[in-house]
Amino acid sequence: MHTKTLKQLSALLRDKKISATELAQLYLTRIGQSDLNAFTSIDAALTLEQARAADDRIAKGLATELTGLPIAHKDIFVTEGWRSTAGSRMLENYSSPFDATVVEQFRKAGIVTLGKLNCDEFAMGSSNENSYFGPVKNPWDKTAVPGGSSGGSAAAVAGALTPAATGTDTGGSIRQPAALCGVSGIKPTYGRVSRFGMIAFASSLDQGGPIARTAEDCAMLLSAMAGFDERDSTSIERPPEDFSLAVQNDIKGLKIGVPREYFGKGLATDVEAAIREALREYEKLGATLVDISLPKTELSIPVYYVIAPAEASSNLSRFDGVRYGHRAAEYTDLSDMYRKTRSEGFGDEVKRRILVGAYVLSHGYYDAYYVQAQKIRRLIAEDFQQAFKQCDVIMGPVAPTVAWDLGSKVNDPLANYLADIFTLSTSLAGLPGMSIPCGFGQGGKNAQRPVGLQLIGNYFEEAKLLGIAHQFQLATDWHTRHPAGI
Ligand code: GLN
Repeated sequence: MHTKTLKQLSALLRDKKISATELAQLYLTRIGQSDLNAFTSIDAALTLEQARAADDRIAKGLATELTGLPIAHKDIFVTEGWRSTAGSRMLENYSSPFDATVVEQFRKAGIVTLGKLNCDEFAMGSSNENSYFGPVKNPWDKTAVPGGSSGGSAAAVAGALTPAATGTDTGGSIRQPAALCGVSGIKPTYGRVSRFGMIAFASSLDQGGPIARTAEDCAMLLSAMAGFDERDSTSIERPPEDFSLAVQNDIKGLKIGVPREYFGKGLATDVEAAIREALREYEKLGATLVDISLPKTELSIPVYYVIAPAEASSNLSRFDGVRYGHRAAEYTDLSDMYRKTRSEGFGDEVKRRILVGAYVLSHGYYDAYYVQAQKIRRLIAEDFQQAFKQCDVIMGPVAPTVAWDLGSKVNDPLANYLADIFTLSTSLAGLPGMSIPCGFGQGGKNAQRPVGLQLIGNYFEEAKLLGIAHQFQLATDWHTRHPAGI
């Protein structure tokens, strides 16, 4: 039961083969027994109350396709009831008086919240080792990182602690952990999913999306998550879409752009082999491969690591010991209170980004760094538009390697930043991107570690991406594999 997809569970709920309460209880038990450290907060009474309400709704014939299904939220989405920590000591005891729009939309559909998921502090990281609540383990190999920053989300789905989770992606944080944990995830077009109630990291990049076992499940969830929200000033007004209707696309004649720059030095041979094999699978399904170039790929790292910290330094100024969360116990005056509160409340990576951000925004450096980065950001977006003249979709690796060993890069922030090379430019351009499992590489001595195939579409082409991913999942079984012991 615990390894079933949302689609399967939804049918079981409709046919009364299982109740929402039984389903919630089953996952709560699994979460209680897990050693993955994927959750930051659970509250069984609250979850079961929602499950009973869902059962009532099903009994009355008022259910949607999602009613009674369980989900867990990355602890970046604020929730009434469960504390909202953003993986930070700063918000260790923070309770939100309202739900994020995404959480609210799921609640309206009758989805049951299992709890909150561990993540890198304020979503800054690629290994989930920057969380105040400790690292999350990768269920495929517990000595490996799950990826980040939505590491708890991807690990919880791979470890069958929940059939689905929300994540957020600023520079890869849905796609990369989904890849490293062998599950499916989609980062929608910027503006598609409301950011209201998503604790801000870099507002021009942050975008929420689903992580689940299959593209089909992601489509179901995205249909409920997406939509205009007047409380988010960058939310896009478009008619609602049912993404699950679109997951029937044919691959025949599809032109897949394969960016040269994604297959250069730095890409591990085991990852490359799995990606090439996946591309061959698409050729078998009737697609053709087109050699394309995204020449500014390398620049996405310095550009992102100027823009994201700049926005972070501004967004995180609100954590001052007055308005939210932690406040130092002892201080002499107001400045001392700010200093101590922020010194104690933030971890090293967050402080590093605030420093970099304040620096690149400061008088004298603003033009040299920040403005320059913004200009290159636009050129990166233009590269994609050039590429889409030659192809319908772009494919390549999500990450240059499989999951690395826990602890192996913690003292080397640059090594972590470099691992973002294939995901950052999509975020900088605001394009939709997806990761689906497509094989395994040789990570550790104990177990094989998953590889993710990245699919990048043009603006608002989530339905197309999900359809293309779904066709791959009809033809292959990577998405049905489970870590040993699950
Ligand atoms: N790894 C990137 C970073 O550390 C991306 C994180 C994200 O997408 N939230 O900023």
